[in-house]
Amino acid sequence: MKYISTRGQVAPIGFIDAILMGLANDGGLLVPEHLPQLSEETLRQWQELTYPELALEVFSLFVNDEIPRADLKKLVDDSYGTFRHEEVTPVHKLDDKRYILELFHGPTFAFKDVALQFLGNLYSYVSKKTNSIIHIVGATSGDTGASAIEGVRGKEGIRICILHPHQKVSEVQALQMTTVDDANVLNLAVEGTFDDCQRIIKELFADVDFKHEYHLRAINSINIARILAQTVYYFYAYFQLAKQGVDRKISFSVPTGNFGDIFAGYLAQQMGLPVHKLILATNANNILERFVNVGLYQPGEFRGTYSPSMDIQVASNFERYLYYLNGGNSDVVSTLMAQFKAEGRIIVESDALSHVQSDFSAYSVSNEACLDTLSDYYTKYNYLMDPHTACGAAAADKLAAEDDVTIILSTAHPAKFDESIRLREIRQEYPAQIQALFNKPQIRTVVSGTNEAIKDQLVKFF
Ligand SMILES: *Cc1c(COP(=O)(O)O)cnc(C)c1O
Repeated sequence: MKYISTRGQVAPIGFIDAILMGLANDGGLLVPEHLPQLSEETLRQWQELTYPELALEVFSLFVNDEIPRADLKKLVDDSYGTFRHEEVTPVHKLDDKRYILELFHGPTFAFKDVALQFLGNLYSYVSKKTNSIIHIVGATSGDTGASAIEGVRGKEGIRICILHPHQKVSEVQALQMTTVDDANVLNLAVEGTFDDCQRIIKELFADVDFKHEYHLRAINSINIARILAQTVYYFYAYFQLAKQGVDRKISFSVPTGNFGDIFAGYLAQQMGLPVHKLILATNANNILERFVNVGLYQPGEFRGTYSPSMDIQVASNFERYLYYLNGGNSDVVSTLMAQFKAEGRIIVESDALSHVQSDFSAYSVSNEACLDTLSDYYTKYNYLMDPHTACGAAAADKLAAEDDVTIILSTAHPAKFDESIRLREIRQEYPAQIQALFNKPQIRTVVSGTNEAIKDQLVKFF
């Protein structure tokens, strides 16, 4: 298996090089050269596997022999051994038509752990194997930072610096990042917004001399390893229902912002998993919903919501879908992305739009509808979900086919977003691991949001 760029200007590279490259050198995104096609027989055999066994099979398809199977097995076992639930991502039944896929049983209580525990271990493995220095730099609106730090804290050969917008992440999110006292971790609280953090990171990565001199590596979902790791739980959830004898069609409803999580479901489907519908749920930052429903991809005005991890206007994984939508034609993708840069929008019409609408249905959930759904489900099922998950539930209520069973992806534990949940007079008890954070000292450096200030910090740290 080789990896190529959606813009066609990178010679095919292997799995490890693809992980290290992050963003493709031609500005595109890396995708597998072809998608493995799974037979019914393989799917039947996979039904019996535990989560780590299944993850090992899926990764094997994409890693080829670049990592010996025994090493890969250890990487997988180490990554999912940190989860608090023995099933890793258990499926919780609400009623005959609604299930919740709980993706938040990892160390930081958000679904990002599923991919970042693995990527952290993978970076550590590659660093040892190739004797290379790994310096991770990333920006976060909350969950990615905590999860990435947890994935590499204390690991030899790796240093990590995370930028978060000062006083603009939830209290628990901030504590999860800043109470880590390992020497290989640097938290910079940037005076500015998440967009400022993201822009600074992009400009640092674009400074090729600086990037090479300091061995900078990426951890956001432009990294193909994250997407591949996320395909596993679509298979796993589907199999759990099939094993229970569910014989209706199975659909998924996915809260998404960067098009990462739902794109993983799309890949699983393209590989042969018989998913019926993929329901795309956004909050009021609804660029993806507008794309699916009217064929216009154009950033709107940024809106702060109760589901801040989906407050995104430019969905970084979108280009991967464009590539598949256009039959793998990288010239078309390059033209469309150039047009997006010049005109700030992409329009798809007629046939292509019907194609998009056969791949996805989409719904944008308002702030009020998000909390209403959260509160309704709490009353009806005695099940408390976080506001991101509630967007998925609201979209399922709106769009799920009458006869389908719909699996709603739960991307975070409600304790991470207590500020929003309290607005509906719902009280929850924090899990002990989260409660313990409140007694720990915080370590972080507040810096101004200029490239120079960040560079100074990085040079000192690395
Ligand atoms: C990151 C995140 C999302 C959105 O994930 P995408 O990769 O943008 O699809 C949804 N919910 C939570 C809690 C998150 O942390």
